[in-house]
Amino acid sequence: MKVIVLGGGVVGVTTAYQLQADGHDVTVIDRQPVVAGETSWGNAGMVAPGHSFVWSSPKAPMILLKSLVRKDQALRFKFSTDPRLYSWSWLFLMECNPEKAQRNTLLKHRLAAYSQSVLQNVIKTESVSYDRNDKGILYFHRSQEALDRGVAQMKLLESDGQIIKVLTREEIVALDPSLSSAQDGIVGAIHCPTDETGDPAKFTRALADIATSRGATILNSTNIEALEVSGGEISGVRTDRGTVKGDAYVLALGSYSPILARRIGINLPIYPVKGYSLTIPIEGHAQPPNVAAVDEHNLVAISRFGDRIRVTATAEFAGYDTAHKPSDFEFMKRVTQELYPDGGNYERAEMWAGLRPMTPNNLPFFGQRKYRNLYLNTGHGHIGWTMSHGSARITADLIAGRAPEIPMEGLAS
Ligand SMILES: Cc1cc2nc3c(=O)[nH]c(=O)nc-3n(C[C@H](O)[C@H](O)[C@H](O)COP(=O)(O)OP(=O)(O)OC[C@H]3O[C@@H](n4cnc5c(N)ncnc54)[C@H](O)[C@@H]3O)c2cc1C
Repeated sequence: MKVIVLGGGVVGVTTAYQLQADGHDVTVIDRQPVVAGETSWGNAGMVAPGHSFVWSSPKAPMILLKSLVRKDQALRFKFSTDPRLYSWSWLFLMECNPEKAQRNTLLKHRLAAYSQSVLQNVIKTESVSYDRNDKGILYFHRSQEALDRGVAQMKLLESDGQIIKVLTREEIVALDPSLSSAQDGIVGAIHCPTDETGDPAKFTRALADIATSRGATILNSTNIEALEVSGGEISGVRTDRGTVKGDAYVLALGSYSPILARRIGINLPIYPVKGYSLTIPIEGHAQPPNVAAVDEHNLVAISRFGDRIRVTATAEFAGYDTAHKPSDFEFMKRVTQELYPDGGNYERAEMWAGLRPMTPNNLPFFGQRKYRNLYLNTGHGHIGWTMSHGSARITADLIAGRAPEIPMEGLAS
């Protein structure tokens, strides 16, 4: 078949790759001059099944409420005139009970773990250089009480096969000596040795090159204006450079999927949640991070991509605004500098902001919706790089009419 993939982020490109592996003729359309030019560019690069906990937890309503009155660095919720923020928030709050949070977390973990296995198969067969680091991720805590809570919470993922190790301060420093000067502020950590990191944009661009070398078409700098409908199916994609036609279409536009979908009668509750990142060149500094880490107290994530450090933080409801200013990064920069004082050249950090395509239950949408030849693969939220590879394989299987390799109950839209 000729399959048109709408969106060249990590989700669209991994989908194109898997569809091509199944023998389809694939075209990817993206408005940016290169793939992975939006959210898939600046994330923390964590392939982290150990980070599968949903944001829609029983604690979330109180955290949201507090953020209205307190200037919080981690979560920024502001009132807005956008009615979609409120309809999405209502659906989100409906997911925040203990049963749903547990169920959604386990579903997400199933998808994330499967996705990591698909990624590992891809890198076994293809030569993709993307600054991979497979030393696991340290989820560290700054008080005994928080560590105990974290360990108790991790039991849920452990029951689903996640390997965890609880480390003392000394064991953390033995694993990553770069944390030695900051160790007094750390009580202990949960180390997920099978979690990993890598630069998602490098990966996506390398995979796109592989797909194009095998005949796939990537239409960059092409803005999708509308999906054309005829006789109960999608008949083409109208772009600013003409109409593109195929036999099947995959919607993978991240936070922008609902905008196009809405115009053809499909309601997708995906809301953009803004996050910020810094990319810090190491430039000969002696003690950059060796193992990726999440400071669970400050909610700052830190990864090492070869000669750079990527730091991310903050969940902000700001609509589709990706603007940023230096003060947005002060807190995360300070936290990172305290942890790794000789980690990199903090003065030359590159600033970036992007939008997580969040669904109320933190699970992406899959499969056919309303039109026979339209497939969804969108809404991957805060761990979309982690879930992309498996989501791509699932989408290719659904298009082929095959059962995906993992049970889809609870995952199918
Ligand atoms: C600060 C931050 C940190 C994160 N950290 C992690 C992490 O450590 N691990 C992890 O797994 N995930 C992480 N994520 C989440 C992850 O980045 C996303 O889930 C993932 O990138 C979503 O990929 P996507 O392909 O769906 O969306 P995108 O990357 O946004 O791709 C959608 C594409 O559609 C294109 N597009 C949109 N509208 C149009 C149009 N009208 N016409 C043409 N093209 C269009 C865009 O140009 C874009 O390239 C993080 C996100 C943020 C913001």
